[in-house]
Amino acid sequence: MPTYADRLNLIAPSPTLSLDAKTKALKTSGADIVNFGIGEPDFDTPGHIREAAIKAIRDGFTRYTPADGLLELKEAVARKFKLDNGLDYKPGQIVISNGGKHTLYNIFLALFQPGDEVIVPVPAWVSYPPMISLCGAKPVLAPTLAENGYTLTAEELDRFITPRTRGLILNSPSNPTGMAYGPERLAELADLALKHDLWVVSDDIYEKIIFDGFKFHNLPMLRPELAERTVIAHGLSKTYAMTGWRVGFLAGPEKVAQGVAKIQSQTTSNPCSISQKAAVAALDGPQDEVEDMRVSFARRRDLVLRLLADIPGLSCPRPQGAFYVLPDVTAYLGKKRGGRILADNDALADYLLEEAGTALVPGSCFGDGKTLRICYAVGEADIERGLERIKAALLKLV
Ligand code: PMP
Ligand code: GLU
Repeated sequence: MPTYADRLNLIAPSPTLSLDAKTKALKTSGADIVNFGIGEPDFDTPGHIREAAIKAIRDGFTRYTPADGLLELKEAVARKFKLDNGLDYKPGQIVISNGGKHTLYNIFLALFQPGDEVIVPVPAWVSYPPMISLCGAKPVLAPTLAENGYTLTAEELDRFITPRTRGLILNSPSNPTGMAYGPERLAELADLALKHDLWVVSDDIYEKIIFDGFKFHNLPMLRPELAERTVIAHGLSKTYAMTGWRVGFLAGPEKVAQGVAKIQSQTTSNPCSISQKAAVAALDGPQDEVEDMRVSFARRRDLVLRLLADIPGLSCPRPQGAFYVLPDVTAYLGKKRGGRILADNDALADYLLEEAGTALVPGSCFGDGKTLRICYAVGEADIERGLERIKAALLKLV
């Protein structure tokens, strides 16, 4: 028999996508599940964006575009960076890809190779370590503390840097913690990135979902000299409720953009022509629905935090953004229900799915054994129903 490539053994399927498939199958078979699992806005894509796509189809805009994206979309992305971040990127420094995930993988392929170590502060989004491994590099997980708002301190980063360290991944606001980096902490990390000649991949996909007047920063905004070693990964999925459209983009040094464009031209060609037209409408059009969604997420965060505070033994820092909270559930680990010991957060998540009809992602998927992730991109009635069930199920444990 022919054999398989070893890289298949390096990774497992995305646990967030697997849990979502399982939750949807349970729902289809009639189970009443509150889905706090998948990180996907529950809102519809704003109407004017959908209309732009319909127009693109009617106009017959259905052929290959330049492999690295439409110039008009790159120009819209450049305007976004100027307007939102005060950053100057030329179209030649921007590449459009099939979603934020594809953008990140392309960046890693262009920057990292066997022998390289890439530092990932954890808890971290599920796909960074597998994507780094697929590039033949080694993901190095650097734990962060809840009391530091799950941000990595310079001291902690320093401990993980070796002569092989090539890169650092930052994601602020973060999936799964919802926490974000303020300028002081970022500045400390910037010093180390310069000192050790590191690439920084800044995953800014939750930039627009921030609360309480928090001011978003990334490294090039803070220190212009960092622009030559930072690659910003971004996308439309979260900001514009466009998860299905698959549009992501990067901005960074021209050589990185050229490298990614080369990889993309040989592997996937251009992202969907119709989605790119929709993306132009998203970035250049009215932003009031983005603001409405942000306000809804802020209200839901407050509701989740209020209901969590009512469950004995749970705690989490107050997230500044995204649509996740990551409560520490150690008070319930090792407890029993009907002779079954819930030894770890995976077992606790299984129990809450089976007994309470609530889908949550165990922190183990993000490199953390103490927590469960609640995605609150669901309606307020479901948040109330779900949290009530979680509370009742946890209080049954002995
Ligand atoms: N980065 C982070 C932190 C995310 O949470 C996600 C959502 N899955 C992505 C990137 C990828 O987004 P997309 O759906 O655009 O591929
Ligand atoms: N980012 C989302 C999540 O964490 C979507 C699923 C995925 O891409 O992993 O649930």
